[in-house]
Amino acid sequence: MSFCIHPWKYINEGNVHIVLQILNSNYVLRLIKEDCCKTKKSIISESVEFVNSVMIPLIFSDRRYQEEVVDISLQEIVNLTKNLHKFRPKNRTYKSIIMTTAIKAPNLTMVDPNADNYCIEIKPKEGYLAKSLKGYSKCYYCMKQFLKLTEKHIQGISNYCPLDLFSGDRDRMKFALKSLIENPQNNFKVFKNGNIIYKENKHNNNFEIMLKEFDIFGNYINLFLDFVIEILLSDGKSDITVSTTDEIKMSKSKYCRDGNNLKHESFLFKLLHLQRLSENTYTSDISDEFNYVRSILKEIETQNLDLATAEHQKIFFTWDPLYLALISAIIKDCSIMISFTKNINNKHPKVSVGSQTMSYKIGVTDLEPKPAKVLHKRKETEKKLIDNYAKIALTAE
Ligand SMILES: [Zn+2]
Repeated sequence: MSFCIHPWKYINEGNVHIVLQILNSNYVLRLIKEDCCKTKKSIISESVEFVNSVMIPLIFSDRRYQEEVVDISLQEIVNLTKNLHKFRPKNRTYKSIIMTTAIKAPNLTMVDPNADNYCIEIKPKEGYLAKSLKGYSKCYYCMKQFLKLTEKHIQGISNYCPLDLFSGDRDRMKFALKSLIENPQNNFKVFKNGNIIYKENKHNNNFEIMLKEFDIFGNYINLFLDFVIEILLSDGKSDITVSTTDEIKMSKSKYCRDGNNLKHESFLFKLLHLQRLSENTYTSDISDEFNYVRSILKEIETQNLDLATAEHQKIFFTWDPLYLALISAIIKDCSIMISFTKNINNKHPKVSVGSQTMSYKIGVTDLEPKPAKVLHKRKETEKKLIDNYAKIALTAE
């Protein structure tokens, strides 16, 4: 791939990746930093193959988008590193060696690169009450809010509870989304044409004023919430119409309420189903953190499985519970990307709101394999959460 013919824009970066938007196209490029340890190209290829053949088909029952491994010449990397320097935050530039292998992925914030696009990112987290927390009637996310507050990572407890979002009950879903807007932390963001326009701690955050600029919902947050709920409850493939419902007058309930009335074909149901794969007992093996990725891919190849089909998914769900628990861990930490544009694009389903019709797209990001130690870490954090919660409950008495 050559940057002489593909103009780019720096979007953001994390510990491992630098993300560039490739202008006038529908994709982004994830450059890989390799300062601490050399990553082999084969590991990157496996990770991409895992996203393409396991995660995307399991979530969507189709292969709506695929990632690709691309090579960039050394000369291009040298130029790119030089040109990127001025865009990168100072605290990140200590890692500056970029691999010649990169990942080309669809730009999930856009439906149509030739029009104005909006995108809502929701990191929903664990949407059911884990067995280990049932005695406290507090879900993992809500318990973690108390710990974050104790450790001063947040200023106030969020009213958001993932169990409300995954309940399928429109009032509770509305309350969940409204709580995310009020206290987004890292669970809620809004993008316009790939740029973040609403998130935690953003200067001049005013959701109503921002919403007015969309010129779709007026300044009615209620209509916007109905819109997001309708898409989450859809199968992500059909044309839908948003029906308006009343504003909610709810307050956070003391305990998290488990159970849902989601339709089995809805997008949310599929996510929740995959999250629940960790409910079976598994034997942890952390001898090789990413060994499971190769094992799963090999097994899929040997058995000639296509995980986009319901029949083959059923077979997959009978495999080693450890594999399933790791898939579940990825889904519990992924982000839902709902993008939409007023420019009707026939490749995508439509959503009607009042007199307006838009094309929309549901995507899911952060589907890369996680090291097997996440399962062990989760158990440790759970212990910490329960200890902390018990202390708080005692003080409150
Ligand atoms: Zn909760």
